[in-house]
Amino acid sequence: MPELPEVEIVRKSLDKKIKQKKVKKVIVRNRNLRFKIPLAFENFLKGQKIIKVDRFSKYLILSLSNNSYCILHLGMSGTVHLVFKKKKNLFTNTSFYNSPLLPKKHNHVEIIFEDLKVIYNDPRRFGFLEIIKNLSLLKKRFIHLGPEPFQPEFCIKYIFSFFKGKEKNIKSFLLDQSFVSGIGNIYASEILFMSKIKPNKKARLLSKKDCKKIMIYSKKVLLDSIKKGGSSIRDFTNTFGKTGNNQRSFKVYDREGLSCKRFKCYGFIKKKIISNRSSFFCNICQK
Ligand SMILES: [Zn+2]
Repeated sequence: MPELPEVEIVRKSLDKKIKQKKVKKVIVRNRNLRFKIPLAFENFLKGQKIIKVDRFSKYLILSLSNNSYCILHLGMSGTVHLVFKKKKNLFTNTSFYNSPLLPKKHNHVEIIFEDLKVIYNDPRRFGFLEIIKNLSLLKKRFIHLGPEPFQPEFCIKYIFSFFKGKEKNIKSFLLDQSFVSGIGNIYASEILFMSKIKPNKKARLLSKKDCKKIMIYSKKVLLDSIKKGGSSIRDFTNTFGKTGNNQRSFKVYDREGLSCKRFKCYGFIKKKIISNRSSFFCNICQK
C-alpha cells in the first residue's frame, strides 16, 4: 500500500514529465473507483495545461491552468504509468511497488499529452480521481487532515499539547490522520524504534523530549524512505514484479524474532497487535 514516500516519488516523476504540458485527450475505460469518475471528467481536463504536480499527505494534486485542480489518490493498489510515444519504455511504473510494466488489465484512466500518456491502473479500486473547482474547495477537501511531518505546524508544542490527557497509545496516534498526515503502519513502527518509545505507551505519558524525538524522526524516516525509493526506481530489474520491500532496509518492521539493529543493544524484535495493526519493536531499547 502506497504511503507518503511512495506518493512523493510518483509526484516527482509526474512533475518532471507533465509540468507545463497540455492535456490533448482523456479516455476513461472504467469509471468504477472508490468514487465513480464523473461523466464530465474527460471534458473538464481536456485542453488544460498542468501547471505543476503537488502533493499533500497521500494525495497528488495536479494544478490546472483554469485555476482548478485534479486530485489523485492511489488507494491500496493504484499505480501511475508513463507511456511515451516515441521512446520504447522498459519500465512504465512511476512507483517501486507492483509491476514495473503497464499491466494489461485495470487501466482505468488515460490522460494523453502530445508526447506521452499518463495511465492510472488500480486492480483493487480503492483509489480515485476527483476534480476540485478552486483553491478554497481544495483547502476544504483537506481540512480533516492534520499537518504532515514536514510542515512547521508539526512542532513539539503541537505534539505535546495534542497528547495531554490522552489515554490512547502513541502508535495509534501516529496512524491517526487527523493528528499527523501521511504516516502509515510500516513507518509508524520505524519512527517509534528511532525514538526509543514502545508502541503501546500511553500518549499522555510522553515527555517533551519524547515529543521532540517523534517530531524529528517522523521527518527523518519519511525522507530516508523517499531517497531510497528514488534509487530503487532506477534498479527495477532487481525487483521485477516484487513490491520493493526486500530492498528497503527496515529496522523493525517485518523483523519479528531477529536481533535489534541498534548498536550495543542485545534485544529482539517483537510483534504485537495494537489497535488491530501489527506493530514491531525492540523488547529492550524501546521504553
Ligand atoms: Zn534494541
